[in-house]
Amino acid sequence: GLSPDDYRRKHEITVSGNNVPPPFTSFEETGFPSELLREVLRAGFTAPTPIQAQSWPIALRSRDIVAVAKTGSGKTLGYLIPGFRHLKVTCNNSKMGPTVLVLSPTRELATQIQDEALKFGKSSKISCTCLYGGAPKGPQLRELEHGADIVVATPGRLNDILEMKKVNLSQVSYLVLDEADRMLDMGFEPQIRKIISAVPTRRQTLMYTATWPKEVRKIAADFLVNPVQVNIGNVD
Ligand code: ADP
Ligand code: MG
Repeated sequence: GLSPDDYRRKHEITVSGNNVPPPFTSFEETGFPSELLREVLRAGFTAPTPIQAQSWPIALRSRDIVAVAKTGSGKTLGYLIPGFRHLKVTCNNSKMGPTVLVLSPTRELATQIQDEALKFGKSSKISCTCLYGGAPKGPQLRELEHGADIVVATPGRLNDILEMKKVNLSQVSYLVLDEADRMLDMGFEPQIRKIISAVPTRRQTLMYTATWPKEVRKIAADFLVNPVQVNIGNVD
């Protein structure tokens, strides 16, 4: 196989931060449970994408991550699979609230993330609920009451439910800001800030973005601790 540096060069991966672990260049190296690996192979995947290869070993060490990579690079499983592992070690009761929280800009994206979580999390027996606007709150609140290990939510709807005190985020210890640049473009910064203030500071935070403008840098500076930054391709 390639050395870590050669693999990074070949796939245009640049990293910054201290003690960055080498990328996983194959699924075998990941040490993921065999049922999960079977599911991944069944999906027709032959190797981790570059963002997965470099972000999995970082996320599995419970480090904060900023990942800058364009759409279609496989970011969802990049954060979901380490999230499954996090759920396994934390062993929280989902009736008390989610342990993994994913913020996503739109209903469509949130639903896709939930689909991916249910498909690849089946063997880990995870439960996942989706919260988004433009639909009645009742069914979403009932699903929450049944308990969900993972909540995938748009910031507007989650903030509404939080203000109604119908969700408890005090157990969240794995927080994902997906498509952070898009969420900020859509004006969700106030809701994101309120939601994060309801999440314990003792947590792992992962931020995924396609671009790296100063508004996104500010969020990273405010909410991530000693993150490793992973860039795929050119980042300006
Ligand atoms: P992003 O969030 O970066 O836009 P997604 O996570 O939505 O990307 O993934 C894009 C597509 O690539 C999805 O259809 C996903 O199932 C697929 N995919 C994810 N990981 C791999 C992999 N290791 N090999 C091949 N395809 C993958
Ligand atoms: Mg995505």
